[in-house]
Amino acid sequence: MRNIILLGAPGSGKGTQSEYLVKQFGFTHLSTGNIIRDNIERKTPLGVLCQQYSEQGQLVPDDIMIQMVENHLQTITGDLIWDGFPRTIIQAEKLDQLLQKLHSKIDYTLYFEINEKKIIERIIGRLTCPTCGLTYHKTALPPKVQGVCDNDQTPLVQRKDDNEAKIKIRLAAYHNDTAPLVQYYLNKQVLTVIDADMEGHAVWDQIMAVLK
Ligand code: AMP
Repeated sequence: MRNIILLGAPGSGKGTQSEYLVKQFGFTHLSTGNIIRDNIERKTPLGVLCQQYSEQGQLVPDDIMIQMVENHLQTITGDLIWDGFPRTIIQAEKLDQLLQKLHSKIDYTLYFEINEKKIIERIIGRLTCPTCGLTYHKTALPPKVQGVCDNDQTPLVQRKDDNEAKIKIRLAAYHNDTAPLVQYYLNKQVLTVIDADMEGHAVWDQIMAVLK
């Protein structure tokens, strides 16, 4: 079991590159944001617990997130792409412990570095499939047929937290709680910086250079 963490601000392209990695190498994609949205959609107890936080752009408390990840880990196998977890130092420490118990470790942390102006453009234009979680962009990465997912033909939606007001809150949470993970993984000597200002293919090429 290999573990690759994709670390970066919201809108830095982690989800899109995860999809490519899943397609190319059959990695298992563990996106805590997708798990939360799926639970909200299905109105599960977990969804009810997370809804307020997630739709307002705030982080869900660590204990809820850690429990969610522990449960989810029991249902999946294979090499994992961690997208959106960990997002705090407490989550990162817990992940180290969980992986140690599984006789595993973090192989790579790819840090998607991006200019904030670009983030806002990307998030405001983003369309998401509520069924499979695939993401598109209205102009930069449109679906083949306008408004519907290429994968399963579900009508695409704009996420409730993908607007300018919520992005500001999400970026503040990123700077306060998540950005310190860059130093955390640098210290562990597993961090590689990816220039995520570039568009899709150029980002992919950088990732391939690391994983080859
Ligand atoms: P994302 O799809 O990764 O942008 O996540 C969407 C929202 O889900 C975030 O703004 C948080 O409210 C919540 N969320 C996802 N992952 C985490 C996490 N690791 N810790 C806390 N909240 C999270």
